[in-house]
Amino acid sequence: MLQGKIAIVTGGTRGIGYATVKKFLENGACVALCGSRQETVERALHKLKEEGWDESRMMGLWPVLSDSKSVQEAFDQVVTRWGRLDILVNNAGISQATPLYDYADGEFEKILDLNVTAVFVCSKVAAAYMRKQQAGVILNTSSMVSFYGQPSGVGYPTSKFAVNGMTRSLARELGKDGIRVNAVAPGVTATDMVAALKPEQIEPIIARIPLRRVGQPEEVANAFLFLASDLASYVSGAILSVDGATQV
Ligand code: NAD
Repeated sequence: MLQGKIAIVTGGTRGIGYATVKKFLENGACVALCGSRQETVERALHKLKEEGWDESRMMGLWPVLSDSKSVQEAFDQVVTRWGRLDILVNNAGISQATPLYDYADGEFEKILDLNVTAVFVCSKVAAAYMRKQQAGVILNTSSMVSFYGQPSGVGYPTSKFAVNGMTRSLARELGKDGIRVNAVAPGVTATDMVAALKPEQIEPIIARIPLRRVGQPEEVANAFLFLASDLASYVSGAILSVDGATQV
């Protein structure tokens, strides 16, 4: 579905991002995965090689995602190597559960820096390439909490509401340049964070999910694959829930 496409996936070293990198490789793309540190990026590349993926179709980067110079240098490397940029998946993100009264100075700003500013910076750098091509796809990782908030850790839903706003706005602004912009809003997904929960923590969560289970990273990756592909050629400004119809 992505034969010959060039993609960048931020937060590609584990969890949803890693599953998306694999899904894109399986579907014929060349993929640059970004992580926060060289060590974790190299570990992820090593794992992919061990799983049999061709080195010539992958590369690793670790820019500071909210720093436009750092992102420009990193994305330039991708275009220098593969000649163009078709797909950007803004997936890197952190969450927060801190009660409002306990927020430390700078904690709120920290989550906005990665979950919002980095999405803006990476989209701006990628869109400049895509505009020249008059084609491209930008995909953002939102969350189910972007629709109804969460009872603690206000920074996280605030950041994901902003991601939805950026998705809808950039879809309207960049459509004339042939660029589609969409988001996927996962529910509780079985990444490391969720795998570490005890049965007594996970059971009440599952009780609120009509499909009676948490999602798998591959199921979120499937949504990214669809939105990145030509099957979604007339889909822009959408925020696709992948949450088993979770109820609050
Ligand atoms: P994860 O913690 O397993 O992976 C996070 C990724 O982000 C890693 O690749 C890491 O290297 C990268 N990252 C973290 N901090 C970074 C930084 N400062 N700079 C650059 N990269 C950084 O996370 P996940 O659960 O796979 O989540 C991925 C995305 O999905 C996030 O945006 C998250 O908000 C969203 N999401 C996750 C869930 C869930 O239940 N797991 C639910 C809804 C939305």
